[in-house]
Amino acid sequence: MTARDRAIERLLSGLDPEQREAVTAEPGPVCVLAGAGTGKTRAVTHRIAWRVLRGDMRGQHVTAVTFTARAAGEMRDRLRGLGVAGVNARTFHSAALRQLRYFGTRRFGGQLPELVDSTLKFTAIAAARAGLQTSRAKNYDLTTEIEWAASSLIGPDDYVGTIAALGRDAPAAPEDVAKVYAAYIEAKRRAGVMDFADVLAYTADLIGDVEAAADQIRSQYRFFVVDEYQDVTPLQQRLLDAWLGDRDDITVVGDASQTIYSFTGATSRNLLDFTRRHQGAALVRLVRDYRSTPQVVGLANQIIGESKGREAKMRLELVGQRPDGPAVTAEVFADEAEEADMIARRCSQLIADGASASEIAVLYRTNAQSQAYEEALASYGVPTVVTGAARFFERAEVRQAVVALRSAAKTEIGAMPLAEAVPTALEAVGWRPDAAPAGGAQREAYEAVTALANLAEQFLEHHRANPDEEGPEPDLDAFCAELSRRASEQHAPAVEGVTLASLHAAKGLEWDAVFLVGLADGTLPTTFARTETALEEERRLLYVGITRARERLQLSYGLARNSGGRERRLCRFLAPLGLGGFPRTPEPSAAASKQRGPKKAKVLDCSGCGKPLTDARDRKLGHCSDCPATMDEALFERLREWRVTVAKADGKPAFTVFTDVTLIAIAERCPASDSELAALHGIGKSKLDKYGPAVLHLVNGGAVEDAVALSTEDS
Ligand code: ATP
Ligand code: MG
Repeated sequence: MTARDRAIERLLSGLDPEQREAVTAEPGPVCVLAGAGTGKTRAVTHRIAWRVLRGDMRGQHVTAVTFTARAAGEMRDRLRGLGVAGVNARTFHSAALRQLRYFGTRRFGGQLPELVDSTLKFTAIAAARAGLQTSRAKNYDLTTEIEWAASSLIGPDDYVGTIAALGRDAPAAPEDVAKVYAAYIEAKRRAGVMDFADVLAYTADLIGDVEAAADQIRSQYRFFVVDEYQDVTPLQQRLLDAWLGDRDDITVVGDASQTIYSFTGATSRNLLDFTRRHQGAALVRLVRDYRSTPQVVGLANQIIGESKGREAKMRLELVGQRPDGPAVTAEVFADEAEEADMIARRCSQLIADGASASEIAVLYRTNAQSQAYEEALASYGVPTVVTGAARFFERAEVRQAVVALRSAAKTEIGAMPLAEAVPTALEAVGWRPDAAPAGGAQREAYEAVTALANLAEQFLEHHRANPDEEGPEPDLDAFCAELSRRASEQHAPAVEGVTLASLHAAKGLEWDAVFLVGLADGTLPTTFARTETALEEERRLLYVGITRARERLQLSYGLARNSGGRERRLCRFLAPLGLGGFPRTPEPSAAASKQRGPKKAKVLDCSGCGKPLTDARDRKLGHCSDCPATMDEALFERLREWRVTVAKADGKPAFTVFTDVTLIAIAERCPASDSELAALHGIGKSKLDKYGPAVLHLVNGGAVEDAVALSTEDS
């Protein structure tokens, strides 16, 4: 056996029979259709290595395209680990840009148009030329729409007709969008710039029009690999076709059930039609899931098993390969702040128990949700890495709003009580309470500024609820100082941190522990998903999120968005599953009447008999129903009396103060200090700050009226 044979044998030994079939298929079209965590990415890297080791070609002859720069980097690392160097592993954009820079200059008269990564300015110019009244956020939505059209190979002239045929909602009157789109192309041309879509289109044109360039590119790149092929846009496909010419040495891998970028023009049609387009293509299906425990795999199968539409036709049931792990846990919290606080606490506990922060992720539906988690984790001293989006304080609208607040603090607005000063100052950036725009970027921007306004309220509330903090009520100046402090704390360089990512940005990645948060209907699925097709994409997003977890998966949502606010339902895709810890009935009112509150996540043993506790209520109390701990009945009654008075004074339902189960836990454990109190489930940092002194006062035998005074002071 030669050294090469041994290397090949070693390479193939880490693969199962189906993966091996995909890896060792003879040169020519290969399609791997497979579910999450089944080793698609592993299969493509091994296929490249196999071809190179076998002597088919050198690494330099391979182009491997993946979805993100991070994924491309990982692919290069993995290939290096397999002993293969020189592979052109890139995103479509970076691969195209490289070719364009190399071959395209002459075609553009010696000077390639400058690549601009923010095209907002040109949309603004175009909108003005088209005579449209816009705002920054509206321009953003127009930009997104133009990007979608360009990625879908729809020009300004076809725009109106095509979106009517597709039944697509436009961010403005379709005729206006078409006008802006045409003016946008003109504005770019005049300025001598190109956008990301142009990079792909120009490269495809170059290969189509300039024979010398085509020859050189095609002789350099002979074998193509595409990961995450289900989310390729028609424009990317056009470039891929140009690269290939009349050759067909291409391997694609994808999972139609993970099609989540339709809003950018991506379509799973290319994946699903691959074997029809490429006659004689090898088709391999992988179903063994190597990433996740059977507990996680089971939930993923349940979610995707109900999917409908084109993508669902090809779905495969995953078969978990790993040993059993902890059960998937589900928790509902009173509101989003409590949810963020408790999840942050869980993360810090995992790290204290020895987990590495980089092996933990908190995943959410929209980028605006990151802020609460950035803050909550920072308050527990846990570093974070935010992927795929600007950090909260770096968002343009947040920076503008902070500037507006600072300048207002120097005017007569600064003399107003904070609760009035903040909304007044924010009028300068066009913000009004209860004037949320319908959707898209305008809505995200609005929510981000609303989050600032809410911060002001929390800041006041904290000051009022904290009897230790003396001095006058904070004013706008004090709030601005608080904002600077928060912003600077979060700018601390995060090297190793808990990943905060949107579900979209989490694609292809994996972590030991995943917290899927904000699983309320209206957030996931988003309220903007109105059609069946859009809802199915939301379902797939949930599937992508679930399948990121290797071991530990926790699902959660806050019953209300803000403290005392309207109650929401559980995500409709999860509601029918009856997961322990989530309300069995999706009716919020029923959930409230049962006084459901925070549920426990960790596997716990009964403090009496030592058996593991499975029932959510038992877990919260810390003992099973057969082993009743002795509860201080009188204390329980006093706690209840205190709770009802405090809730009434705050004008919110009693369970939002503490649930019955939490009160029972307090009456059983009689915590003697803040830290003992904090160890009880259902008591996050905000609750501790707000009610800790009152509860400890009651536990120490203090009077109910005094406890009430401690928790409602100044409010
Ligand atoms: P996704 O759909 O999320 O992109 P994927 O199909 O690309 O997932 P990979 O990321 O390639 O899956 O693999 C998932 C995990 O399973 C990785 O940690 C990988 O190393 C591991 N894995 C894949 N195949 C095998 C195998 N045959 N033996 C052991 N581990 C494997
Ligand atoms: Mg993958």
